[in-house]
Amino acid sequence: MSKLIIANWKMNPPTLREASILFDAIKQTALKTRNVQTVIAPPLIFLQTLAANTKAKRVQFAAQNIHFEASGAQVGETSAGQAKDAGARYVLVGHSARRENGETDLETGKKVIAALGAKLTPVLFVGEGERDQDGLFLRTIRKQVIIALKDVPQSRIKDLVLCYEPVWAISTSGSDKQITVNEIHQMVLFVHKVLTDKFGERAARKVWILYGGSVSSDNADDIFAIPGVAGAAVGGASLDAKQFGEILQIANKT
Ligand code: PEP
Repeated sequence: MSKLIIANWKMNPPTLREASILFDAIKQTALKTRNVQTVIAPPLIFLQTLAANTKAKRVQFAAQNIHFEASGAQVGETSAGQAKDAGARYVLVGHSARRENGETDLETGKKVIAALGAKLTPVLFVGEGERDQDGLFLRTIRKQVIIALKDVPQSRIKDLVLCYEPVWAISTSGSDKQITVNEIHQMVLFVHKVLTDKFGERAARKVWILYGGSVSSDNADDIFAIPGVAGAAVGGASLDAKQFGEILQIANKT
């Protein structure tokens, strides 16, 4: 598999019926793009129904979040085991939307461990809120990676995926807040270096690093050509089956 593409639907679409229509349309392309692992991260309430209707390995599901406890009185939460039982194979952890709601690096780290324990692949999101001229934002990224992975043994690092997603570049298609190909390349190298420092080059090489933030059919070609970019998290554009299909086709070629 050469690319991993995650459709992060966030809190969309409004109904199961619309989710099923969107999913069926995406599935048409996803089943044909042999070099791509497509992962759909729908609202959890739709996941089980969508997952029950497809057995194709090329299309998998992700929970958008989990709680780190296995069971208990955590009202409104879902455990890693429950997400797995519903049909998820991946789980997004540390997404900036969760961090904005107060999730700490330590909690993100506990979710990584809970996911690995339930045999889910955690997709660890890291990204700075904004950039400063002195490069202090790099410390933020290092801290997010190091704390979230502090309890992960070297032997399990190959079982997770990392996604560099700068918060300032999310949902900015068409505005002047666009990240450059060069900036993405530098950050993928930086994240790889942080992983290498902690786990060694051999283990770090096995970690897939994705890019997220306003990926569209207009910039996917350039982004997927960046060395070290193993795929993408796609938000807004994944709600448009036509555009998302184009992104899958571009990923399939690169
Ligand atoms: C996201 O928030 O994970 C994301 C990828 O959003 P967008 O593509 O809309 O920037």
